[in-house]
Amino acid sequence: MKMTITDLPDDDYKGKKIFVRVDFNVPVEKGKVSEDYRIRRSIPTIEYLARKGAAVILASHLGRPKGKVNQKLSLRPIAERLSAVLKVNEVKFVEDCVGSEVKYSVTRLEQGEVLLLENLRFHKEEEANDPGFSKELASFADIYVNDAFSTSHRSHASTYGMASYFNYRLAGLLVEKELDVLGKIRDNPFRPFIVIVGGAKIKDKISALKNLIMKADKVLIGGGVAYTFLASKGISVGDSPIETDFRDWAKEVVTKHGDKIYLPEDHVIAPSAQKKGKSRSIDGEIPEGFIGYDIGQRTASIYTHEILSGEGTIFWNGPMGLFEKDEFSHGTIDVARALSLAYWRGANTVVGGGDTIAALRKAEVLETEVDFVSTGGGASLVFLGGDELPGISVLSDK
Ligand code: ADP
Ligand code: MG
Repeated sequence: MKMTITDLPDDDYKGKKIFVRVDFNVPVEKGKVSEDYRIRRSIPTIEYLARKGAAVILASHLGRPKGKVNQKLSLRPIAERLSAVLKVNEVKFVEDCVGSEVKYSVTRLEQGEVLLLENLRFHKEEEANDPGFSKELASFADIYVNDAFSTSHRSHASTYGMASYFNYRLAGLLVEKELDVLGKIRDNPFRPFIVIVGGAKIKDKISALKNLIMKADKVLIGGGVAYTFLASKGISVGDSPIETDFRDWAKEVVTKHGDKIYLPEDHVIAPSAQKKGKSRSIDGEIPEGFIGYDIGQRTASIYTHEILSGEGTIFWNGPMGLFEKDEFSHGTIDVARALSLAYWRGANTVVGGGDTIAALRKAEVLETEVDFVSTGGGASLVFLGGDELPGISVLSDK
């Protein structure tokens, strides 16, 4: 078990400087934060530390500036938004994450105050996990906190390298919750355990898939991922892209675990994603010249029925189709709505993945209509696959 911020006595925070690695990698358009879910999720940890009398230093990356200063990827708009949503003082901002100006701002930072540093990735040393850079970041604070679960699968200076300079390396409240919920799914889910998988590629999620398929009682497969499974059974998928590298594995899975694997039985197809209005439904095999872009209505109702009969855990990652286009969004929307209904009926429902969360919104399912929305994306999948996350393993044990 990892130590979390609530494990330290309150007095240990008074007058101390706490470095908190957060994930503020949010969409910014024309200098304004257009979507602040990740910012809101960081409030509990920041407020907790500030209220205990700590001076809180926040650091994050934004986008991929590749080691160069890029004003479009500045965190300044995030400092503004954070100031608006926090109960504590206004958030201070400094135009770099290392250097003399940062040192000066940190020295002047008082109890209960919050300072946001500029984009960590403006320095190439961040992603290179450079020891000198790590050491300088660490020099600003007394205690290290990781509340950026979604970057914990990276061994960067701020997520990994700098932590070794601290006696106390703690999980923030968001990381604690992620570890708790995803740990339960990985090790000991309430049964029946239903896994819904979709999305673009098997390749992105193979280790998580391997583990989850073993553990699950039912696996409902949709999205681009489904076609490799169908093709491995010798079912024609037309021109839908299949991942030949995973064909044999998919075949083995459907042979071994066929009783619990559900594959689409009908599809929404089109010659290409661009040709609007050329889509149609088809039952069974997909003809040459067509690509599958969504699960069909019959499949959606089979999946809905399974989801609604679930009284244990339901985990969903990956949209059922190219849901960004309305004509291919029905399967995904049906699944999202079924999931929220299952939540209201008492199932333990967990959703992960950036696009899956966007799909939830498109279906007008509220964040409060599922038990947990994992901010993790890639990190959640690595964790569910049973692999260690460097940003977690580096934290102090209880
Ligand atoms: P997440 O971000 O939730 O982990 P992924 O990144 O794995 O999900 O996959 C999401 C993407 O997969 C979406 O952009 C969606 O449009 C795409 N997708 C799903 N099914 C299909 C399909 N049949 N054809 C093309 N794209 C698809
Ligand atoms: Mg994605």
